[in-house]
Amino acid sequence: MMQPQPAPGNLAGIGGPGAAHPPRRWDEPQAPGRRAFVTDPHRTAGRTPPLGPWPKRPARLGAVVVRELLDRVVSGELPQLSTLPTEPVLCEAFGVSRTVVREAVKLLEEKGLVHVKQGQGTTIAPQDDWNLLDPMVLEASVRHDHQLRMLDDIVDVRRVLEAQMARQAATNATDQDLAGMRRLIGKLTEEIATPGVYILTDVDFHDAVMRASGNRLARAVVRTIHTEARASTRYNGQPRSSDCAASNAGHIAIYERIAAHDPDGAAQAMSEHILGSWMSRRPPHPGGAANRAAQGAAAAAEDGGDRDAAAGSPAGR
Ligand SMILES: [Zn+2]
Repeated sequence: MMQPQPAPGNLAGIGGPGAAHPPRRWDEPQAPGRRAFVTDPHRTAGRTPPLGPWPKRPARLGAVVVRELLDRVVSGELPQLSTLPTEPVLCEAFGVSRTVVREAVKLLEEKGLVHVKQGQGTTIAPQDDWNLLDPMVLEASVRHDHQLRMLDDIVDVRRVLEAQMARQAATNATDQDLAGMRRLIGKLTEEIATPGVYILTDVDFHDAVMRASGNRLARAVVRTIHTEARASTRYNGQPRSSDCAASNAGHIAIYERIAAHDPDGAAQAMSEHILGSWMSRRPPHPGGAANRAAQGAAAAAEDGGDRDAAAGSPAGR
């Protein structure tokens, strides 16, 4: 996803050497004497006036400041519990007014990334306070997820919620829903040889199951987290036709259990499909899922949790 990039130079280091560059202020108040738009309704009635330039620079620049600070927090460059540079330092570094900086810090606070305390400055919030369902926070978390822990968690949440929705779809799906799923499976079968197209229709199939479940909240959560995951090449991998064929066998199994009104079977088929697909494309990593699954089997025996035990199920290999 292309994001607006800050101008190089004055953002190189907040308060660092880059801050020596003269700030460029896009957000200063309009100079007095700006032309007023007084119109004569007799001359303008029924006409579509040309749109003059909107004062977009401050808004865009504000977004750049938010994105830049958010990225530095999520990457750890601005570590948890450390103090955010002061307003004057941020104004200087980004070349913007205090208004823009305050607005940016307010947005970061809403995203759970900073805590603002009157008179005590602003501190970077601990990770546990970050709002990971905020698309910007999640996108940056996935981008900086070099250990793949965030992607493993996303797959885990998908697996649990989509299994539940497949279960509900087995009860709630109408004939029309089932016909839609059949049509998508036909399309997927034709697209096995073109993985780039297949992965797009794959999303449509999962969405058809989620819609048929009637569970709007679970669908919204999955759509939010999956959108950010799919933007990551680490998540998508490099699917081959053989991967698509294996994946589509999973779709057929899910459809058959839903059509047979078998809630448990549908949930299990969905869980196995999501985890199996991820494990087949997940990049190997020393601290990765294989190790976590192995550790998890022991941990699950201790705490009775099923999370890592499930991650180590045969379907995942
Ligand atoms: Zn799928």
